[in-house]
Amino acid sequence: MSKPKKDNSVDCIFCAIAEHLVPASIRYEDDEIIAFDDINPSTPIHVLVIPKKHWASLAEVPVSGEKLLGKLLYCCKLLAEELNIADSGYRVTINTGKWGGQIVPHLHLHLLGGAPLTERLSMYTEVKTKAEKS
Ligand code: 5GP
Ligand code: ZN
Repeated sequence: MSKPKKDNSVDCIFCAIAEHLVPASIRYEDDEIIAFDDINPSTPIHVLVIPKKHWASLAEVPVSGEKLLGKLLYCCKLLAEELNIADSGYRVTINTGKWGGQIVPHLHLHLLGGAPLTERLSMYTEVKTKAEKS
């Protein structure tokens, strides 16, 4: 049986990638963070940048994580330069929680670019009550 580690969560796909237990196309790595290509890219360039320690979402980051959050964002900036999308422009998003559209419960930043991004950020789905649905 797999044992929970100090900073990592068992059964978390991104923790498994951070530990090199699951393969990924790695763009950057150090002792605190790792960046790899999204398996199902939404844009020609779609890199996920994550902390190696398991935080389920941005909402779960403690005050002690403030510096690491800055490092994750700065990594996106440097990767954008390396991948030649800094001049054309790009987007960094953090989906957070259910209504934020987060699927993988390990904090991750999406670095999206390589094409003009037209989708509006403020799109939302109406929440319907039971009465409205029937
Ligand atoms: P979310 O919707 O949680 O913000 O985004 C999760 C992202 O993780 C999705 O874009 C999805 O394609 C990506 N993803 C899910 N599983 C894997 C995986 O095993 N490997 C990689 N490289 N990306 C994954
Ligand atoms: Zn994790």
